[in-house]
Amino acid sequence: MATEVAIVGAGLAGPLAALLLAHNGWRVTVIERRDDPRTAGFSGGRSINLALAARGLKALAAGGVEKEVDPLLIPMRGRMTHSRSGETSLLPYGQRPGEVIHSVSREGLNRLLVDAAERTGRVTFLFGHRLEDYDPERKTLSLVDGANHPGTFQADIVIGADGAGSALRQALAERGLIRADEDILDHGYKELSIAPGAHGAHRMEREALHIWPRGGYMLIALPNLDGSFTVTLFLGREGEPGFAQLDRAEAVQTFFENEFADAAALMPRLTDDFLANPTGALGTVYSQPWQVEGKVLLIGDAAHAIVPFHGQGMNAAFEDCRLLAERLEPGCDVEQVFAQFSRDHKPDGDAIAKMALENYIEMRDTVRDPGFALRKELGFELERRLPDRFVPRYSMVMFHHLPYAEVLRRGAIQHELLMRLTRDKNKLEEIDLDAAAEAARQALPSMRKGSMHR
Ligand SMILES: Cc1cc2nc3c(=O)[nH]c(=O)nc-3n(C[C@H](O)[C@H](O)[C@H](O)COP(=O)(O)OP(=O)(O)OC[C@H]3O[C@@H](n4cnc5c(N)ncnc54)[C@H](O)[C@@H]3O)c2cc1C
Repeated sequence: MATEVAIVGAGLAGPLAALLLAHNGWRVTVIERRDDPRTAGFSGGRSINLALAARGLKALAAGGVEKEVDPLLIPMRGRMTHSRSGETSLLPYGQRPGEVIHSVSREGLNRLLVDAAERTGRVTFLFGHRLEDYDPERKTLSLVDGANHPGTFQADIVIGADGAGSALRQALAERGLIRADEDILDHGYKELSIAPGAHGAHRMEREALHIWPRGGYMLIALPNLDGSFTVTLFLGREGEPGFAQLDRAEAVQTFFENEFADAAALMPRLTDDFLANPTGALGTVYSQPWQVEGKVLLIGDAAHAIVPFHGQGMNAAFEDCRLLAERLEPGCDVEQVFAQFSRDHKPDGDAIAKMALENYIEMRDTVRDPGFALRKELGFELERRLPDRFVPRYSMVMFHHLPYAEVLRRGAIQHELLMRLTRDKNKLEEIDLDAAAEAARQALPSMRKGSMHR
C-alpha cells in the first residue's frame, strides 16, 4: 500500500525514519533545506563526529544498515582523562565485552542513511527546499527553494525531523497547538582539530574519548578514521575564562597552554582555527505534546533537543525512529499512534534532557574526584552481583534500552545508595560488599523482563 508521508529534515533522524517507514510500505518524501550531501558536499553545521551507542545501533539494525555502518565506527572503550600536567588515566565505560561507545562521522552516517532510504525505491528526497510554514488545517507545507521560489506540498501525515531549531515546531507553537520552550545554556562550544600523524596514525590513544576536565569547563576529543581527532571546547560564554575573553590569538594560546598543554602541542593551527570557527550554542528544547491530531509528529531534536554531554541526542532520535516505525503500519490509526507515542515518550525526553545536563557536571568536574572512581568501582561490583537489578546509570543510558524515565528513577535510587555506602570510605576493600549487595537488592526491584531490551 503506497501512502504519502512527508518528513521534514534529512539530518540524522529524517533519513532513518524514511528508511524504516519505507520498509513498512509507506511512500515517503523527505524535504531538506540543504543540498544533497552526496553531490554538493556536506554542510551539517555542527559536531563533525558523534558518539553512537546501543540505542542508536539497535535502530540502525532495524533499518538493516548495521553492516554498512560498521566500517565507519571507532570503538571508544572509556574516558581517558588528561590532567593539567599531561598524565592520563582510562576509566572504562562498561565492564562487559561490547560495552563501548563508537565515534562516527556525522557526514558518513548522513550519506549512508540517505542512500539506504533512496535504495528502497519508496523514498524521494527534495533537497534544497526549506520549510517556511505548515498549516495543519489545510495539511499544507509552505516551502522555499534555493532560488527563493515559494511552493507548497500537501501531505496527510507529516513528521518533523528538522532539528533543534525546527520550523515545524515553531509553526505549531505559533498556532497555539503545542507548547515549546527553549532553554539555552550559558556555555557554548568550539570545534577544533588534531591532525593525523605520519601515515594516518592517531597521535593519542585511538580507542578512547579524551577529556580534559577542568571544573567549570572542559575539552574533549573523539577519534576520526583518518587519524585526526575532533576536539571540542565547552566553556562559559561570559566570565573568566569564557569565550568572550578569548578573542585574540595570544589569549587563546595562553589559555590552552595553561589548561590543556598536551593537546595544544598537537594543534599547530589552534589559534587560527579558534578564531575562524564559530562558537556554537547549546540548549534544551521542551515541547508538549509532540503531535497534533494525527497529522503531524515531531521526533528527534525537533521534539526534544538536549545538550550533548551524554552523547545521546542522535541515539534518542534514532530510538524515536525505531519505536515509531514499530507502531506506524499502513492502515493503522495514525492519530492513536501519534498520541500514544507523544504520551509515552515525552517523559523519556525530559529524563534524558535532565541526565544530559547532569552529565556536564560529571564530565567537567566529578571525574576528577576520587569519590567518583570509588562509586564507579562499587557500581560495577554491584552490577556483577545483581545484573538484573543494579546497572550503573551511565550503562543503562548507553548500553541498554530501558526507557530513559525509568533509567532516571533507578539511577536516583542507586546514586543515593552509592553515596551512603562509600561515605568515609577510600577503597572498595573497606566496604562490606555482601551488605552492600543486600541493600541494593532491597532498594531496587528487578528490571522488568524485556524492559532492558525495549
Ligand atoms: C556539539 C554537539 C555534539 C553532539 N554529540 C553527540 C553525540 O556524541 N552523540 C549523540 O547521540 N548526539 C550528539 N549530538 C546531538 C545530535 O547532533 C542531535 O541529537 C542529532 O543530530 C539529532 O538529529 P535530528 O535528525 O533530530 O536533527 P539534525 O541532525 O539537526 O537534522 C535536522 C535536519 O533538518 C534540516 N532542516 C532544518 N530546518 C529545516 C527547514 N526549515 N526546512 C527543511 N529542512 C530543515 C537540517 O538542515 C538538518 O539536515 C551532539 C550535538 C552537538 C551540537
